[in-house]
Amino acid sequence: MNTSSKICDVLIAGGGNAALCAALSAAEAGAEVQLLEAAPRHFRGGNSRHVRNIRYMHKGPTDIMTGPYEEEPFFEDLLRVTGGKTDEKLARFCIQQSEDAVDWMRVRDVRFQPALGGTLQLSETNAFFLGGGKALVNALYARAEKLGVRIAYETEVHGVSLDADGFRHVTARTPDGDREFPAKAFVAAAGGFEANIAWLTEAWGPAAENFLVRGSPFNTGLTLRAMMDAGAATIGDADQCHAVAIDARVPKFDAGIVSRSDSVPFGIMVNKEGVRFYDEGEDFWPKRYAIWGRLIAAQPDQIAYSIIDAKAVPLFMPSVYAPLQAVTLAGLANEIGVDGATFEATLGAYNAAVQPGQLDSAVLDGCRTQGLGIEKSNWARTIDTPPFYAYPLAPGITFTYLGVRIDETAKVRLKDDSIAPGMFAAGELMSGNILGQGYLAGFGMTIGTVFGRIAGREAARHAIG
Ligand SMILES: Cc1cc2nc3c(=O)[nH]c(=O)nc-3n(C[C@H](O)[C@H](O)[C@H](O)COP(=O)(O)OP(=O)(O)OC[C@H]3O[C@@H](n4cnc5c(N)ncnc54)[C@H](O)[C@@H]3O)c2cc1C
Repeated sequence: MNTSSKICDVLIAGGGNAALCAALSAAEAGAEVQLLEAAPRHFRGGNSRHVRNIRYMHKGPTDIMTGPYEEEPFFEDLLRVTGGKTDEKLARFCIQQSEDAVDWMRVRDVRFQPALGGTLQLSETNAFFLGGGKALVNALYARAEKLGVRIAYETEVHGVSLDADGFRHVTARTPDGDREFPAKAFVAAAGGFEANIAWLTEAWGPAAENFLVRGSPFNTGLTLRAMMDAGAATIGDADQCHAVAIDARVPKFDAGIVSRSDSVPFGIMVNKEGVRFYDEGEDFWPKRYAIWGRLIAAQPDQIAYSIIDAKAVPLFMPSVYAPLQAVTLAGLANEIGVDGATFEATLGAYNAAVQPGQLDSAVLDGCRTQGLGIEKSNWARTIDTPPFYAYPLAPGITFTYLGVRIDETAKVRLKDDSIAPGMFAAGELMSGNILGQGYLAGFGMTIGTVFGRIAGREAARHAIG
């Protein structure tokens, strides 16, 4: 085992947005900073490479936002999606601290685009990164390098060592074997464990084998596990996560946002037994797509099919993968491997239950079914015009919520509720402090930016006073 001869001031595990925000804020406070990123350079940046926007509090319209988004509506939105499973004090603190997040990033060369319209309807609440997450991550790395932050790629932290005085060193796998990195302070910002199928299986059972991982294959949770082993207190449930319905044909890891499929509200969803299992028209798709990951996870073999006919095709953005298709319903059942008789019976019952109405995809149009065990509340129209299409959909996990318990200074709590001196956390790895369940679009970046900045600043204060 090699040991780094030099004790650096602030050591950071991770290489995404939270880690980079921590690195910049520690370096700007005058600390010597070393960042350990598990991925090779060309794969750096974790899930942050995939992001499009950040939700933040602001008091009025700006050059990139169409209106104000103040603390109360922000907190109410969070309360609604989490069903109250949040720490109100920490959540409000995070929201308040997000107010200058966008300006802070702009000063550090991150660029934003003017507000757009479109399906996500986020122009009042979320700022969009110009060039997406890749541009964001590249800007932050360039800034970190300018400030003298040392960056080690292909360096995976799997051990964390503490003693009575606090943090001592981490152990990491490097291209030259295992190595210890001692430091005066440590910031853990190495993501969740969403790419660790074995760990997901502990929480979800064998269903997890069929999950697709939307983001980085490097977020295996080794640093989180090491902190737990070192005595850090945890918060959140291992099966709580952000999971959406995505095209089942994408690669197992890292397909990003192009894996989305938007056809669901304009047809019906059937499982592999050919039966419906939830109201496809409950609300607008951007408000519902995040519940379908869990819904499909509960179906046999974690697969479902969005079934539409030719009339529905112009109503949604085409997806990257072409749908399976056939000129008859029996033919489509055959294409997707579902029992033809059950499939046709499901379609027949659905078509017979559709009430008269004028479909309008822009509003909750009330075009509904009547008389089914599971009704469809909006955009219900008969599926009768060939060709018929099917999109296979599977649960796509975005990130997990189980994390280490922290306070407002991003200090990590130990199991006996004491503070571990010199140990801080930011980003996905502590998101469970605020996200008990559910998700608010753009809030992952809020958490990472707010607590990354705080963790870096506090770690520098701990290291150099
Ligand atoms: C497809 C997709 C789209 C998304 N879109 C949005 C969006 O528009 N807005 C939003 O707010 N959120 C979005 N998210 C969620 C968002 O990506 C995360 O909330 C956010 O990026 C988390 O930042 P982070 O720094 O904590 O983690 P990450 O950015 O994932 O970074 C974790 C880093 O840790 C490294 N690492 C992992 N294990 C180790 C280890 N053992 N040792 C050292 N390094 C390690 C990884 O290589 C990676 O660099 C999206 C996620 C995905 C997958």
